[in-house]
Amino acid sequence: MNTQTITLLPRVAEFLNGTKKLFINGEFVEAESGKTFNTYNPATGEVLAIVSEGDQRDIHKAVQAAKRAFEQGPWSKMSAAQRGHLIYRLADRIEEHKEELAQLETLDNGKPINEARIIDLPGTIEQFRYFAGWTTKIMGQTIPVSGSFFNYTRHEPVGVTGQIIPWNFPLMIASWKVAPALATGCTVVLKPAEQTPLTALYLGKLIQEVGFPEGVINIVPGFGETAGASLVKHPDVNKIAFTGSTEVGKLIMREASNTMKRVSLELGGKSPNIILPDADMSKAVPGVFSGIMTNQGEICSAGSRVYIQKKSYDNVVADLASFAEKVKLGNGLYEDTQMGPLVSIEQQERVLNYINIGRNEGAECLSGGEKTEEGYFVKPTIFAGVSEGMRIAREEIFGPVVVAMPYDDMDEIIERANNSPYGLAAGVWTENVKNAHYIANRLKAGSVWVNCYSMVDPASPFGGYKQSGFGRDMGSYALENYTEVKSVWINLQ
Ligand code: ADP
Repeated sequence: MNTQTITLLPRVAEFLNGTKKLFINGEFVEAESGKTFNTYNPATGEVLAIVSEGDQRDIHKAVQAAKRAFEQGPWSKMSAAQRGHLIYRLADRIEEHKEELAQLETLDNGKPINEARIIDLPGTIEQFRYFAGWTTKIMGQTIPVSGSFFNYTRHEPVGVTGQIIPWNFPLMIASWKVAPALATGCTVVLKPAEQTPLTALYLGKLIQEVGFPEGVINIVPGFGETAGASLVKHPDVNKIAFTGSTEVGKLIMREASNTMKRVSLELGGKSPNIILPDADMSKAVPGVFSGIMTNQGEICSAGSRVYIQKKSYDNVVADLASFAEKVKLGNGLYEDTQMGPLVSIEQQERVLNYINIGRNEGAECLSGGEKTEEGYFVKPTIFAGVSEGMRIAREEIFGPVVVAMPYDDMDEIIERANNSPYGLAAGVWTENVKNAHYIANRLKAGSVWVNCYSMVDPASPFGGYKQSGFGRDMGSYALENYTEVKSVWINLQ
C-alpha cells in the first residue's frame, strides 16, 4: 500500500486532541455518565478520537435546552431576517473552515478527500445559504372562505426537532436537516452516527462562534439504541427527521406514534440504473460506474442494480469490470485516492458477506470481491450472471458492488426496475427524449436521473417512494417537514 505522508491541518490536529464533548445549551460538556467511546480511522483501524457518549440523561438536557430556546430564548423573538443573517454567517464560517472539515470527514468516514471537497463541503455550505434565503419567504395564504370571515394560514415552526444522522455523508446530511429547521424557526437536537460524530462537533464549535443563542442547536453523539431511541421517545420532541436504514426507520415510526411526533424518513434503496440501447455508451458506462462507486458505494441512492439490454450486455459488463480493476484504492487523505475504505469493520464484513452470498447464489464475480490487507477496504466488485430472485439483486448492500442484469425490451425493464420494496432513485441512459420521459414518468422513485446520476442540489427535493421512506429533504418541500399549518378565522360581523 501507498505510504505518502499525511499532514494534518493545525486546526484538525488541535481538534482531535482530548475528549470531544457534547454540545448542549451553547456549551461543550461531558456526558452525565462520564462515559466515552472511540471513533476509528477506517483507513488504518487506529483510534481517531475519544468522544463523550450521550445517553438518555444528556438527551433530556439537550431537549430541555432546545425547548427553552424555542419558547423563551432570543431565538423565539428574532425576526425572520435576523435568523437568515445568522444562518448566512454560519455558512460563511463553514466555508472558512472547509478544508479542515473535509479533512476531518475523510479521517472519520474514509471517503477520498477530493470527494469531500467536491460533494460534502459545497453541499453543506450551499444548503445553509439556500435555507437562509427562505427565512423571509415562508408565507401562508389568505383564503376566500364562505360567509363573513377573514381566513388565513400561518406556517409555524413545529418546535423541537430531533435529527438522527447516518455516517455516509455526516456533515452534509446534518445540514439537510439543520438548515430547514433553523430557517423555519425550530430548534434542534442532533444525534450524529456513532461512527462519524466529529464534523458535527466541529460544526458545534462554529455555531458557538457565530453567535447562535444557546440551546438553538444541540449536538449529542451516542449510540442508536440509547441516545437515538431516547430522542424518539422524548415527549418534548415534536418532530424526528431521520436518515438511515429502513429497519431502524420502521422502529422509529412505530415509537414516534406513541407521542404522535411528526416524522420524515429517508431510508434504504436498491436503485435501478438502466442503459437503453440508444444510449451514448461512452457516457453511460462511466456514468453507471460512478453512480455506484462514488463514496465507496455507501450512498442510499447508489445505482446498484444495473440493467443492460441483452445485445450490449457482454460489452458493458466487460467495460465495468475493467474500470473496476483500475480504481486506485487508498487512504482518503492521499490526493490521488479514488476510493477509500468502508466506514467500519462491521460494514466491511457486511459487504464481504453479501459478496459471498452472491457467489453462493451462482452469480459471476468479474472483478474485486475481496478486501485488502490493511484498513476496511473492499475492492470495487462487478457481478454478472445475476437474476432478479438473488438476494444480491434485491437487498441493499451499501458498498461498492454492482449487480448487472440483462433485459429484452423497455416495458419489461420498467416493470423489473419497479419490482422492489424500495423507491429512492433511478437512472436512465438514452439519447432519445421520448424514451427518457416515458421511463422517467413510470419509475416509482423519488429521484430519476437521465444521462446523469446522484445529482442533488439544495433547491431540489430528495426522498423516497415505498420503503425508502417519506418526506423530502431539500428544496421548498423540506419546509413542510418543519412547519405546522394553522388556519385562523376572524369573524367580520
Ligand atoms: P446503518 O445500519 O447504516 O449504521 P442505522 O439506521 O443503524 O444505519 O443508523 C443511522 C442512525 O440511526 C445512526 O445515527 C444510529 O445511531 C441511529 N440509530 C440506530 N438505531 C436506532 C434506534 N433504535 N433509535 C434511534 N436511532 C437509531
